[in-house]
Formats: sequence, structure tokens, C-alpha cells
Amino acid sequence: MNALILIVEDEAEIAAILEAYFAREGFRTVQAQNGQVALDLHLQLKPDLVVLDVKLPKLNGYEVLAAIRRRDDTPVLMATALTDDLDKLQALRIGADDYVVKPFNPLEVVARARAILRRSKSQSEATIIRVGKIEIDLTSHAAIVISDDGRRQKLDLTLTEFRLLAHMARASNRAFTRSELLDACLPEGEAMERTVDSHISNVRRKLESAAAKGYLEGVRGIGYRLVPVT
Ligand code: CA
Repeated sequence: MNALILIVEDEAEIAAILEAYFAREGFRTVQAQNGQVALDLHLQLKPDLVVLDVKLPKLNGYEVLAAIRRRDDTPVLMATALTDDLDKLQALRIGADDYVVKPFNPLEVVARARAILRRSKSQSEATIIRVGKIEIDLTSHAAIVISDDGRRQKLDLTLTEFRLLAHMARASNRAFTRSELLDACLPEGEAMERTVDSHISNVRRKLESAAAKGYLEGVRGIGYRLVPVT
């Protein structure tokens, strides 16, 4: 499906022009005329990118940006009316991905948006970690074992088990203490260190049933590590 652009702009004429240019380039669009509607639509529709005017009724663009950043990392392209450098810096400092200065060329806005989307796509593609024949996709929270003949078997892990495996996969061969693993996989809980042992043994059993043996090693006096079996 084509990327959805949320256009946040209170001047109807500018919004209509942006919408037309994005639509012509094959994007889907939705409009918000004020900051509060923008936040509601962001929550409901999860747009791929937000084009965000600074001067808006209700909540201004900075407030909207800050609220979006408290939720997630949706790419945001700010449209600043002022040529003031402080304004641009402020936008970037609180987490805008790029900015354009009004009056802008709508073609440039679309080009900037496209560049940001390309960057964010390549970032999310980079969130795949491979350790031996285990593949961990941090974006979709999937752990897959790839067999020698190329078959892909998804492991049925609980969230805690997935976090544990992903944490160890980020630094394969490194030995982790139980307390480090506990912090990584059960940050909200008050679980005891020995609960790590039972999670590890579940992950190990699931890996082994997908024919991935020997990946999780106990390290005497320390804890565990994930080794890339070849
Ligand atoms: Ca405005």
C-alpha cells in the first residue's frame, strides 16, 4: 500500500495544493486543520509521515511534534513560516526529521518527504539481526530459524523470550549475567534472577525443536551467551 501522508495545515489553500502534489506522486493523504485533530489522526491512522505546519490553532506545531515524539518515531517534516534559524533548530532539536521554509515549492516538499521515507525504510530494514541460522526481526518481533535448505521456521516465543533472545543476539558470543538479562527482558517486573533460567530453557527448547541446537550456552559463574553455530 502507498505511504499515507498526514498534512497538518490550517490554511486550506496550502493544504489543498500539498494534497494535490502528494496525490499526483501516488501518495495517500489525510488533512488536519489544527494540532488537536492532527494528534487524533496520528493515533488513529498511523501515517507514514507527517507534514507539520508550525503556526496552527489549538496546539502549535512544536507541541504536536513533541506529543508525537512521546508516542513514536513517525517521520515529521516541519513547515516553518519564519526564515529564522532558531525556528529550524528548534524543530530539529525536538525531533523533526527535516524542515522546509514557507513559502515553499510543493515539489520540494514532496521530494523531502520521499527522502525521509527512504531513510526511515532503510533504517527499519537494518533492524534484522542474524546469528548463525537464527534471524531476528526487531521491527516485527519475529525470530526465525532458517534451515540449511532455506526453509524459514518462525519461533513461537513469548514477548519475554523474544526480548531475551534479541538482547543476546545484539552481542553474540558475549556472556550476559542473569541480572543483565533480567533488566533487558523484564524491565517492568520484580522477577528474580532464577526466572531467567526458566525463560532461557524455554528459548533453548524452542530453538532445538526448530533444529537450531547449541546456540544458548551457559557460562559458569556468569550467566548465558548466544553463540553463532556454524
Ligand atoms: Ca499556519
